[in-house]
Amino acid sequence: ANDNDDIRRRIRTIPDFPKPGIMFRDITTLLLDAEGLKLTIDRMAGQVEGKVDLVAGIEARGFLFGAALAVKLGTGVLLVRKDGKLPGATIAEDYALEYGTDRIAIHADACTPGARVLLVDDLIATGGTARAAVRLLRKAGAVVTQAGFVVDLPELGGAAALRGDGIEVNALVA
Ligand code: IMP
Repeated sequence: ANDNDDIRRRIRTIPDFPKPGIMFRDITTLLLDAEGLKLTIDRMAGQVEGKVDLVAGIEARGFLFGAALAVKLGTGVLLVRKDGKLPGATIAEDYALEYGTDRIAIHADACTPGARVLLVDDLIATGGTARAAVRLLRKAGAVVTQAGFVVDLPELGGAAALRGDGIEVNALVA
């Protein structure tokens, strides 16, 4: 259980989703499992270092883990959304996809400058999404030094790149 096997075995891999050749890690089975969900949040909380003022969750599965973790840490949760979804004034950041670009956004007034923000998502692959979220949060004045994921796919290099951006990267399952 120390190597999080109890969490790993509650995540399934679906081949050829969303396209042929991709092995998709499906954490919906982990979310469905009361014990699995609790273990996940407890252990993600255990990896957090020092005081955090706010948890930033990345749309959409990062909202679930981020919100649960925020309750546990006693903070609020900040939404990092796909561009065009937030109703107030936003700031946005582009990031490269395999083909083309995507854009994420936060409310411009979502965090006080100097706030220590913990970034959370379900999974880090190439790191494009998380790195854009860090740039965005830093643009808003947040102090971002750590990020937590349920799953890291280390062979895709995202965690290493994020560490290069000055982020302590934690994941339960690699
Ligand atoms: P990245 O930007 O390449 O690191 O991809 C990470 C983002 O894509 C996260 O928001 C994940 O939710 C999503 N993602 C990529 N691959 C998977 C997967 O195998 N399972 C679940 N989510 C994934």
